Amino acid sequence: MTKIAPRQLVKSDQIKVGVLALQGSFLEHLYILQRIGVKTTQVRLPEQLEDLDGLIIPGGESTTIGKLAVDFGLLEPLKQFGKKKAIWGTCAGAILLSKDAHRSQPLLELMDITVDRNAFGRQIASFEIDLDIPALESVSPESRPFHGVFIRAPLIASVDGDGKVLAALPDGRVVAVQQGQLLATAFHPELTDDDRVHRYFVQLAAENTIN
Ligand code: GLN
Repeated sequence: MTKIAPRQLVKSDQIKVGVLALQGSFLEHLYILQRIGVKTTQVRLPEQLEDLDGLIIPGGESTTIGKLAVDFGLLEPLKQFGKKKAIWGTCAGAILLSKDAHRSQPLLELMDITVDRNAFGRQIASFEIDLDIPALESVSPESRPFHGVFIRAPLIASVDGDGKVLAALPDGRVVAVQQGQLLATAFHPELTDDDRVHRYFVQLAAENTIN
């Protein structure tokens, strides 16, 4: 794979990021991407993946998103896309990226992570907590915490291969992992005003674009 566009040369407006728009919080991701000046599109068909540098799979309900991806003929094209291009899965999207969610449901199996769905309990057990994410210093020099919004969130139960833990809860349980051009967060940056994880992903997408 040829890496182009060193970090300091990447311009957001040269990058196009799609958001899988089958179910869940895809509009919130689109608003943030547009705000940071990235070209965007909603993805519902395989051909809409063609000119993208990266794709976000939003939160929602992972079984539903997976089944709709099968129905729309997107499961295999998404797997192929993620072998070369950047994908970021938030919450349900992180579940879809995993190789095992301990249930029978369609998965992309692109990342060497396993997840425990609804690991914190029911909707009412949703919570917010400040997270330390040192990797974000590459897009913003200030090292302030990132406000993590967890809604019926999964935990990343195991990380194998060359996956790197980007964020964990104070008790050490893992909530964000990067494996090459693939990113999984158990929380929802699109529900905050803080665009640092989006900018981090756009850099990742730019660096992995093959010309
Ligand atoms: N609980 C959902 C699932 O297991 C994920 C929740 C979310 O994306 N906010 O698919």
